[in-house]
Amino acid sequence: MKKEIPYKIYLEESELPKKWLNLRAFMDKKPAPLLNPGTLKPMTAEELSAVFCDELVAQELDETTPYIDIPDEIRDFYKMYRPAPLVRAYCLEKALGTPAKIYYKFEGNNTSGSHKLNSAIAQAYYAKKQGLKGVTTETGAGQWGTALSMACSYFNLDCKVFMVKVSYEQKPFRREVMRTYGANVTPSPSTTTNVGRKILEEFPGTTGSLGCAISEAVEVAVGSEGYRYVLGSVLNQVLLHQSVIGLETKTALDKYGIKPDMIIGCAGGGSNLGGLIAPFMAEKLQGKADYRIIAVEPASCPSFTRGKYAYDFCDTGKVCPLAKMYTLGSSFIPSANHAGGLRYHGMTTTLSELYHQGLMEARAVEQTEVFKAAEQFARVEGILPAPESSHAIRVAIDEALKCKETGEDKTIVFGLTGTGYFDMVAYQKFHDGECPTISPPKKTLQKVLQACQL
Ligand SMILES: *Cc1c(COP(=O)(O)O)cnc(C)c1O
Repeated sequence: MKKEIPYKIYLEESELPKKWLNLRAFMDKKPAPLLNPGTLKPMTAEELSAVFCDELVAQELDETTPYIDIPDEIRDFYKMYRPAPLVRAYCLEKALGTPAKIYYKFEGNNTSGSHKLNSAIAQAYYAKKQGLKGVTTETGAGQWGTALSMACSYFNLDCKVFMVKVSYEQKPFRREVMRTYGANVTPSPSTTTNVGRKILEEFPGTTGSLGCAISEAVEVAVGSEGYRYVLGSVLNQVLLHQSVIGLETKTALDKYGIKPDMIIGCAGGGSNLGGLIAPFMAEKLQGKADYRIIAVEPASCPSFTRGKYAYDFCDTGKVCPLAKMYTLGSSFIPSANHAGGLRYHGMTTTLSELYHQGLMEARAVEQTEVFKAAEQFARVEGILPAPESSHAIRVAIDEALKCKETGEDKTIVFGLTGTGYFDMVAYQKFHDGECPTISPPKKTLQKVLQACQL
């Protein structure tokens, strides 16, 4: 007899994964290595360890170990807010009148409000273990900075955050959460770094970008003894830590014998999606199962759907290594978009390679449509979603509506990466009809892309 599927599939604490899944180990054709911008040779562990903690460098370069142990200290922290529930969106299905079965993995159940804490705690742990004094980072909308501040205060590490200026000014609440957890927050670009001063000289009125804040954070980490830089997305190590999302999702689905037809996630740098799909893509790569996997990005920052697969800088200041990825060009500054966490010019190398091989799809969605989906979801499912997460909701709803037309009862799983309590100005703009989508004109993209290194 088939088990009745509950609204929420909770796992036991003992079912929390003991190992992360390293998706690259399952890929025959590996993502291209990071290159040293000076020599154009693959970055060595030694070069990377000037910027990152040693253990994280090892994880960054490891493309052969399929599973990597999660240290007990990290698992203990995870236990405070994990395993995260997998929710059957019965109410949304009913509202849509669709035969599709919709599930979402909810990662907003912690103070930072998103999945980013999964990697923040791991990175802070390895920094502490190495005996460092502190870490530096950038934050866009503030989710990563918030998560890292929590993680650093847990391990008693100093935390210096460069926050994209527009968010620093528009999101004072996030800034204050970070300061509550003891972080030092500087608006970027700032006059405290060489690269910040240079960017300000060139673009005096700039409200900043993630790429530019990264350059500043790296400069400070490299120039301060006992500090390293940490990044909340894009890197292999971050995808590795985020695999906890997918592993839990798979365990929960397996408990009830559910096999998803499609898995949908929003993609900024690609970490939550990379983590959510990890065990499913591993099966797909091994030929054990097939799933449709869909990355959703904003039309204003369409790395997958309108970018180019090429080596490019990870930051605006061009101090970071080159990564082969789908990119809009490292000097691309996306137009204002309320999903700050999706305003990155590139995409993690693993997902870039998988997309290039045709193993996953991508879709760009317009901002107003995203907020319509967010509101529809909030009204029936209760959770107030982050604008980033709502990109995935949009496509999940669209796919469920297609099922309504065809009568197919497909199983859709999407990642609900976080809550939107700190994004109420964005919701306000949507309600007031001031939420245009500005897609980059073709000419601009061509110009920026030409400048991007091959
Ligand atoms: C940062 C963020 C994202 C996007 O980052 P990825 O690395 O692509 O996962 C998505 N949703 C929320 C809530 C975020 O904070």
